[in-house]
Amino acid sequence: MTNEAERKMQFLFALRSRGVTDTRVLNAMERIDRGAFVRGIFAERAYEDMPLPIACGQTISQPSVVGLMTQALNVQPRDKVLEIGTGSGYQAAILSLLARRVYTIDRHRRLVREARQVFDALGLANVTAFAADGSRGLPDQAPFDRILVTAAAEDPPGPLLAELRIGGIMVLPVGQSDTVQSLIKVTRLDTGFDYEELRPVRFVPLLEGLGQD
Ligand code: SAH
Repeated sequence: MTNEAERKMQFLFALRSRGVTDTRVLNAMERIDRGAFVRGIFAERAYEDMPLPIACGQTISQPSVVGLMTQALNVQPRDKVLEIGTGSGYQAAILSLLARRVYTIDRHRRLVREARQVFDALGLANVTAFAADGSRGLPDQAPFDRILVTAAAEDPPGPLLAELRIGGIMVLPVGQSDTVQSLIKVTRLDTGFDYEELRPVRFVPLLEGLGQD
């Protein structure tokens, strides 16, 4: 077996052993090369199950956390999905294989620019990245079938709850930035919202306004 095939097998094994069992999610994670989203000295660690530094002092999430969040989101092929926190673009790329349309927002222009380049290079034509404050949502394209937030807020942002379609699902970390947060799943019912706590996680904070670069 080639090194690459072996690395891929170990990557998928690590995901499964941490609870990522959804075949569609595993297939998407097999197809999207995480190495394309990590630069410089950290690139060689792209296939390890750990978060890694990216530009603007941010991080690309741990692959098993990406897998578990994607699985919890239960994306359907016709879904329009909003992601807040583009970062490297890795999570958005995986969503783009599972959904009809993906919009992703980051407050750092540089991250958005670099993620767009990777989406183009990989031929992912159904994902659009914007530089903006994602806690305000994306009213022009609302409502969304699924919303995934990859930065932690103290509470689910009101504009995002408002942009979730009835029957839609939002997955997000909530809690203070420097402590362990909870990953929660919010389902919009026609009578209100249902909240389910999934697991402890740790994400960078959801900040207001645009970043410096
Ligand atoms: N999903 C990313 C990892 C996200 S790291 C990946 O797959 O690589 C969290 C990201 O959220 C950071 O890039 C940070 O800039 C962004 N972020 C924080 N607050 C934000 C806000 N209000 N609006 C948009 N992006 C925000």
